[in-house]
This record gives sequence, structure tokens and C-alpha cells, in this order.
Amino acid sequence: MYGYHVSSASLSLDKMISDNELPCLQFYLGNNKTYQRRKIKDIEVKNIQLLQKDNYKRLFTHSPYCINLASDKDDMLTKSQNSINSELQEAEKIQAQVVVHMGSLGGIQKLIDSCNNLQIPDSYKYPLLLECSSGSKKKTKDGFSSKLGGTMRELEYVFERIPSNIGLCIDTAHVWGVGEYNIQEMSEMRRLFDDIISKIGIDKLQLIHLNGSCAEFGSFLDRHTGLGSTDEKCYDRIWKDDASSLAWLLQFCGEYNIPLIGETDDISDYKYVHRLYEYINS
Ligand SMILES: [Zn+2]
Ligand SMILES: [Zn+2]
Repeated sequence: MYGYHVSSASLSLDKMISDNELPCLQFYLGNNKTYQRRKIKDIEVKNIQLLQKDNYKRLFTHSPYCINLASDKDDMLTKSQNSINSELQEAEKIQAQVVVHMGSLGGIQKLIDSCNNLQIPDSYKYPLLLECSSGSKKKTKDGFSSKLGGTMRELEYVFERIPSNIGLCIDTAHVWGVGEYNIQEMSEMRRLFDDIISKIGIDKLQLIHLNGSCAEFGSFLDRHTGLGSTDEKCYDRIWKDDASSLAWLLQFCGEYNIPLIGETDDISDYKYVHRLYEYINS
């Protein structure tokens, strides 16, 4: 199940969803730089419910980038929590899952407290997903990275302490940036998912952000690029020469019914993935 992040700026949501052939899609509920979230109109909700009956699609909203659920500043923390609460409330109307970054600077306990304070709907499974990060070299006083959610140790620590209806989103470009798993190799890709299965639980893994990266392995940088891209300025350091670990990942996600979302705005990714699917199924 492969789809990508679509722009929702100019269209009504129901039109955007019906216009897309994709089995899963991600979009912003409003401006991605402000806390304010857009309300989904009743007519949109009604139309989306109808569409979903005929042709069910997994829907994801990505929260804005200013959100920091681990902020060391109280006003920012409150604004972030309020914004996520209102996004969750809107997303519930169309049973979409909300993706949020794990936050930075204030320490791991801040993130855990935030997650425990949120108003998470209980009408469907995993309304909120925490996305892994590209990590950082810097640490906070508690010994964890200042940008949370890069290492398996941090993911495990957080998921043991937050409500059980919060799920996980893995971004391949972020994993690459951290450098804990060299996902260019199939054995390392397998080790990543073995660890998720044993330390977090496969049911929690609700989404893969499938992006190439032109950052150096272990650089803690986050530089999305097209899958297997040979672009001179930003070539894909993960899969440019060998896509076998990517083929393995597609197969794995197929087995467990985990959707994959591309975030690079690159139509060639769609074609690339479909060529790999054909190869897998041949
Ligand atoms: Zn993200
Ligand atoms: Zn992502």
C-alpha cells in the first residue's frame, strides 16, 4: 500500500481524496508552520464517509513543524498540546491518523508527560503516531538526545511510558540520518524491524515514511530525496546503487499491511515503487 503526501491547500478535502487513486495519503490540516488547525466542514466529512464506504483509504494528517511536545518552554508546550488536541479532534471526524514529531530540547520526560496529557479519541485505533527523528549528537541532562526519537533505546523508553493507543511512524530518511541501522543492507533493514517487533510491537507500527536521503549516513541530518535518485545535487545515498533492501521493505509492509507514504513530491518515486512491486510479484 503506497501513497504520498498531497497538497491540500486549494481543494476541499473530499475532492482531494476522491481525485486521488492512492490507497493511502497524507496531508496537512492547514498551514504547516502555524499552530492553528483548519476545521473540516460537515459537508466534507459527509462526503469523505461516503467515499470511504466504496473505496477505503488510509488517511494521515501531518501536524505542523512548530509543534514541540518536549519543549523546555511552557507556553510552547501548551500551544503544541492544544494544537495536537484540536488536530486529533478534527482528524477523528474522518478517522485519520495524526503524525507528530517527537520533539526536542526539554528532555524525554516532557514528551512522555505531554503524550499522557493529550485528549486522544477512542473511536478508532492509534489516532496519534509519533514519528522517529534523525536524532542529534547533543544530549539533554537526562542522557537522551536533545532531538528525541532517533535511537531504538529512546523509542522503547517512550513507548513503554505513553498511552497504548499511540502508534509509531518510521521515516527511512531519518533512520539513515541517525546511523544506528545501515538500512542500505538487507540484513540491517531486517534488524531494524526485528527490533521494532521485539521492543515496541509490530501492531504499533502504523506507517512508514518512505524517503531517500542525500545526507551522509550517521550525520544526524534530514535531507529527503527521491528513491534511488541520481540527482547530482542530492542523490539518494541509501538506494542509488542497490534497491534490494527497499524491495524487502515493501514486501515486509505488504505482509503486515503497513502503509508507506512518500514525502518527496516526486512522481518518479511512485513509478519506482511500482516497478519494484512488479519485480517482487514476478
Ligand atoms: Zn514528519
Ligand atoms: Zn517523515
